[in-house]
Amino acid sequence: MLMSAPPPPEPECAALPRTAGSRGEAGGGRTGRKEAGEEGGVSGGYLDSVGRLLEGDQHVPVSPAGRVPGSELRRGGQSKGTVRVWLKRDSGQYWPSIYHAMPSPCSCMSFNPETRRLSIGLDNGTISEFILSEDYNKMTLVKSYQAHQSRVIMILFVLEMEWVLSTGQDKHFTWHCSESGQRLGGYRTSAGACGLQFDVETRHVFVGDHSGQVTILKLEQESCSLVTTFKGHTGGVTALCWDPIQRVLFSGSSDHSIIMWDIGGRKGTAIELQGHNDKVQSLSYAHHTRQLISCGADGGIVVWNMDVERQETPEWLDSDSCQKCDQPFFWNFKQMWDSKKIGLRQHHCRKCGKAVCGKCSSKRSSIPLMGFEFEVRVCDSCHESITDEERAPTATFHDSKHNIVHVHFDATRGWLLTSGTDKVIKLWDMTPVVS
Ligand SMILES: [Zn+2]
Ligand SMILES: [Zn+2]
Repeated sequence: MLMSAPPPPEPECAALPRTAGSRGEAGGGRTGRKEAGEEGGVSGGYLDSVGRLLEGDQHVPVSPAGRVPGSELRRGGQSKGTVRVWLKRDSGQYWPSIYHAMPSPCSCMSFNPETRRLSIGLDNGTISEFILSEDYNKMTLVKSYQAHQSRVIMILFVLEMEWVLSTGQDKHFTWHCSESGQRLGGYRTSAGACGLQFDVETRHVFVGDHSGQVTILKLEQESCSLVTTFKGHTGGVTALCWDPIQRVLFSGSSDHSIIMWDIGGRKGTAIELQGHNDKVQSLSYAHHTRQLISCGADGGIVVWNMDVERQETPEWLDSDSCQKCDQPFFWNFKQMWDSKKIGLRQHHCRKCGKAVCGKCSSKRSSIPLMGFEFEVRVCDSCHESITDEERAPTATFHDSKHNIVHVHFDATRGWLLTSGTDKVIKLWDMTPVVS
């Protein structure tokens, strides 16, 4: 349902519905939700620790008939955007306090509650910085600068360095001084980058791009150097999350998987986490409980227990015949002829990595300790060896019922903000599962 201003009354934020066992329909469950924007999506949201909600969205030109707010913004067929601040009133409902028009659709945002500095990235490559008044009822434009040639994809404000890091559709990573607005440096990435994280202590920046790789750069005041690249995804990197305490980087991808890169462990361990049926869109980490929250285009919110020790998935072995029953695979003409047998298709057991035929790997099992929360192909002997205890899930699954594009987790209250392609922002009380 599309709303005209003022927005509908808000239901109270309610506990996160949990799907029984593995994935399935959530059992109802109310959420605090608001409809945002008339056309075009919500591209960023931020929830502060007392429940103030910041939102950047975009308006795509459409026929203005029947649409009340913002219709004047569409004059001339130009796409425009707005930034809104929603305050939670005494009634417990969210009402907009500020509605700020932007010259171009908002594509991303970053907010620092200490300085009340709000950085907004726009479709036209501009970054605009605002300061919000103490009561959040006024926002003042401090400066705007052309950071990119085209859409700003990610913004990260680093208070300690007074830096604004950003990536753009122009395949550039850049960083600016947030005080002067001056460009300090840049680096050309192999594709547009949706993942951006920074380690304050070592000044390493992690840039995950559409080509599937994560580039690690060391930043100096006005220069940067390439440290290394991580390649492990078969699809583009869609989200990054850095845990500076354990020194672990999580990357989410359009290949549906998450990889945990254990940098602190110094053994080159990379663990795969399989718990989504569609693109992983966003990652957040709850440091105090060591839980990873991943959200996907499938609407799934998965809460991973990262205290569990997981194993790497094995390399797939190559063989010309089944490593269980010795039947030849279909390209093994010699053995097929010699033993007068028909060649079989090759499969691989996800647990031991052996090349096996379909008959010897007819069973399926989840292997949570290897990151497989869904059932995968295993050989018959591995199936027997996996105990019920080992099959116990190490993650919980929840259905947000919208295609999540952006997430912000407020660790102080345990609230999660999700915004979706349906133009709805939902607030979730995560404390029943993240505690
Ligand atoms: Zn076999
Ligand atoms: Zn096996």
